[in-house]
Amino acid sequence: MVEIRKVGVIGCGQMGNGIAHVVALAGHDVVMNDISNEKIEAGLATITGNLARQVLKGVIDDPARQAALARISGGTDQDILADCDLVVEAATENEDVKKKIYGGVCKVLKPGAILATNTSSISITRLASATDRPERFIGIHFMNPVPVMQLVEVIRGIATDDETYQSSKTFVTALGKTVTLSEDFPAFIVNRILLPMINEAVYTLYEGVGTVDAIDTAMRLGANHPMGPLQLADFIGLDTCLSVMQVLHDGLADSKYRPCPLLVKYVEAGWLGRKTKRGFYDYRGEKPVPTR
Ligand code: NAD
Repeated sequence: MVEIRKVGVIGCGQMGNGIAHVVALAGHDVVMNDISNEKIEAGLATITGNLARQVLKGVIDDPARQAALARISGGTDQDILADCDLVVEAATENEDVKKKIYGGVCKVLKPGAILATNTSSISITRLASATDRPERFIGIHFMNPVPVMQLVEVIRGIATDDETYQSSKTFVTALGKTVTLSEDFPAFIVNRILLPMINEAVYTLYEGVGTVDAIDTAMRLGANHPMGPLQLADFIGLDTCLSVMQVLHDGLADSKYRPCPLLVKYVEAGWLGRKTKRGFYDYRGEKPVPTR
């Protein structure tokens, strides 16, 4: 087994900061890497706020909050990842971006270190082939928001060795999460099922079957979903949703995965959901307002 003490997180966006948060709370030292100091500071600010909220809710105590914060540092230089036992890449859902990151990271990682990706959909086997360590490469797919969601999908690529799989499973379980093993097929289990439903909700809007409000209310109260599909899409990020649908469409070559043109249009407008304050809802005011 690989003993995982220090953990690197690449990308401090919605997922990266959540991963750093839970990993630090579990007692690991964490280094966060992103393309600018502003991104790292924003990630740290989110973690600080979310830890404080957990104290208020009685989920953790104040010494735990302080200790977790003290374990997290960050920097824009990939050299800071050199002594990590595990690095989790949670950068933008784009294959070229991820492969470019691995090119740099593999030069600094120590030989036995595990490199994991949080990708929502891209082939683990294909990403592994862009590294110097396919046997030490694995998918560790956290759910959003990471501090709250119970599940982590673990995905083995064709070359992932048993030691990497067992070490990753032990690591994730020690974070207090439940692991499911998914085979390496486009979008794995959760997003293979969830994203086509979200895409269908966007088609339902596109074809005028219902308004944003009607569609979300229908699925909340009619299917007992905690969030409507369009609200959930905004929460995930519309760029990520589109990217997952493209991976399903390309990887499975079935027209049922065709991304809805309206989803493409929102992404082209830069209306990516909550993270840009506009998507199927407008978040710039006090209350989210449907945009259609
Ligand atoms: P995000 O847009 O919030 O964050 C991505 C971060 O990656 C940004 O801070 C960006 O600056 C950084 N980044 C881009 N290029 C980089 C580079 N070269 N080096 C270092 N950092 C770089 O996206 P997110 O929602 O956090 O998604 C990140 C990953 O997690 C994606 O692979 C996504 O598919 C996956 N994921 C997302 C969700 C979700 O609900 N949003 C859920 C599970 C998994």
